Amino acid sequence: MDKDNIYESIGGVKELWERTSLNKSNGDYHYLKEINNLEGPWVYVENQKMLMFATYNYLGLLDDERIKQESIKAIEKYGTGTHGVRNFGGSLDIHGKLEKRIADFVGRKYSIAYSTGYMTNLSTINAIVGRKDWILSDKLNHASIVDGCLISGAVHKRFQHNDMSHLESLLSKAPENVTKLVVADAVFSMDGDIFNLPDAVELCNKYNALLMIDEAHSLGILGQNGRGIEEHFNMKDSIDIKMGTLSKAIPAIGGYIACNNEKLITYLKHLSRGFIFSAAIPPAIAAAAYKTLEILETEGAAKRDKLKNNVDLLLKYLHNAGFNTGNTETPIIPIMLGADENAIKMTTYCQNNNIFVLPVISPAVPVGQARLRVNVTAAHTSEDIKTVADIIIKGGKKFGFIDYASN
Ligand code: PMP
Repeated sequence: MDKDNIYESIGGVKELWERTSLNKSNGDYHYLKEINNLEGPWVYVENQKMLMFATYNYLGLLDDERIKQESIKAIEKYGTGTHGVRNFGGSLDIHGKLEKRIADFVGRKYSIAYSTGYMTNLSTINAIVGRKDWILSDKLNHASIVDGCLISGAVHKRFQHNDMSHLESLLSKAPENVTKLVVADAVFSMDGDIFNLPDAVELCNKYNALLMIDEAHSLGILGQNGRGIEEHFNMKDSIDIKMGTLSKAIPAIGGYIACNNEKLITYLKHLSRGFIFSAAIPPAIAAAAYKTLEILETEGAAKRDKLKNNVDLLLKYLHNAGFNTGNTETPIIPIMLGADENAIKMTTYCQNNNIFVLPVISPAVPVGQARLRVNVTAAHTSEDIKTVADIIIKGGKKFGFIDYASN
């Protein structure tokens, strides 16, 4: 086989190439678009000024001047990278400070910080469970959780989304003498709904299972003080292993595990592969995350209030127009449109009208459940929310999607 044929024979390469080429020629290709500039809720996407609604910048801190200055100071002090992995010269005092601050913020004694959220889930789950152990994972969990479950080699059972009777029926079948790990997102990233923590905690206590929750989309967002899902349900200290990311409400990158068991954190620092075999978080990023957590202590509540008003306002406009937004209770607003082509068509329409949104299509969601995912932030004004609603409603009417959505 010649080289070109080898590449084409790699699973899916040829089909993907044909599909993206077709979409590019139709003006319907929306991935990997490059942003050249940022001005609050506005971005310049390939020089076109658009209102940004495809973002995890929930609290609007991505261009906060104080955070940028801390990053610059850290670069001046330590350089742009690190000396390597944390265990071999890569540990800076700022990493230790960040881990302490994360632990304090999420109400745990200890934490470990990894360079990405994906690596955090992959490495931690793989380190905690082995071949005979059982993992019980929500069907809509993030891919990093799914991949961690798969590489661990543990018995991997997936319960129907947020379905506690299904979780119980699986837990009741697990052997007595193995580790049982129940794992779920706090807020589901494609749907914006919230995990049923109260019932899951009860089941974990009943069946002696460890509970691990991914707070990527709840840290800084849920709860009166932004502490996440425990605070939202008023269930202090109910999660055994708290995972979170530093790339959403916190405008940096990285992930963490926080818990009250020092032995587990020490074990992860010496044996979890994503920590010991991957370079440390760069200083500018660690400093940004640290400074953001400090800012959230005093300014988080006001930002969350603004965010909530924006979410409620957009939901009101969309529901009045007849759109179906599923069970979202958070800034992740899925506008259900059915077929992949519908979500792509609507995206093109919005972008042509200077609204930057993106479609979520199969295989990220099941076939027939494509959606426009609109992410609201605290940086948006109520005029911005009205603008996006007007365009989406106009598009929905033009293409006849509102009828579909309200059925
Ligand atoms: N968990 C969830 C629920 C996520 O949504 C994401 C990223 N979108 C991750 C983990 C991975 O985080 P990161 O992007 O920092 O690797």
